[in-house]
Amino acid sequence: MNINIKETNLSFGSLSRRSTTTRIILHHAEASSCDASVIHNWHKANGWAGIGYHFVVRKNGLIERGRPEWAVGTHASGSNSNSLGVCFEGAYMKETMPAAQKNAGKDLVAYLKRKYGITKVQRHSDVCATSCPGINFPFSEIAGASVSGTVTVSSAGQSAGQNSSSSWISRLQSECNRQGFSRQAVDGIAGRNTLAGCPMLSPGASGGITKLLQEKLISLGYSCGSSGADGILGQDTQRAVKAYQKDHGLAADGIVGPATWKKLLDL
Ligand SMILES: [Zn+2]
Repeated sequence: MNINIKETNLSFGSLSRRSTTTRIILHHAEASSCDASVIHNWHKANGWAGIGYHFVVRKNGLIERGRPEWAVGTHASGSNSNSLGVCFEGAYMKETMPAAQKNAGKDLVAYLKRKYGITKVQRHSDVCATSCPGINFPFSEIAGASVSGTVTVSSAGQSAGQNSSSSWISRLQSECNRQGFSRQAVDGIAGRNTLAGCPMLSPGASGGITKLLQEKLISLGYSCGSSGADGILGQDTQRAVKAYQKDHGLAADGIVGPATWKKLLDL
């Protein structure tokens, strides 16, 4: 099974790290038509750090990333500290869920269960006084989804191709060549020469390579602060680097050296 998650690169206020993940809580948007960025704006208007859900499943079957997966969500009062929140576009007190959305929801739930080694899936209404996700929501089908065999995850960025992995590698290769760190083929495939061409980035670094580093971190769910990929390795980016390093078993020193680049390049 392949699951495709669209990266939305939304920028968030202050988030805290979830220390445990024991369940998935399902919601409807209670709006017939919306996407992750629209919900992000609604939730920001509530004074929240940004969209409260970790994923949004669209009616057409597209899965969009909301809040970074590592962060505590804001979707089910009293139950956020150990749960992932998944929201389905639509108003399922009245509407009927399209098959494409139901199938995408099943895939996402199956993938998350496997990833976190959990089986518990709940309705928002199981934990709060609400009608969410609605009486027409096909809860048992989605909650009961499971997967065997391999699951691959691919991600697509906001503008088609621009943030795809091979395009990111091509742009990194080309920028490292341009700055004189390497003279490598720009083929979108990371290899030894790509790794050797990536310079050490320390706090305070700035420029095109730092910007590419930030794009990568943001696409992986590590916020680089409100200015996003601004090409400056400031405090927020340093925090993102440290969180990435910690999550990947690297020394969390905030300096992007060969070991960190190696992970970022998937080598
Ligand atoms: Zn809800």
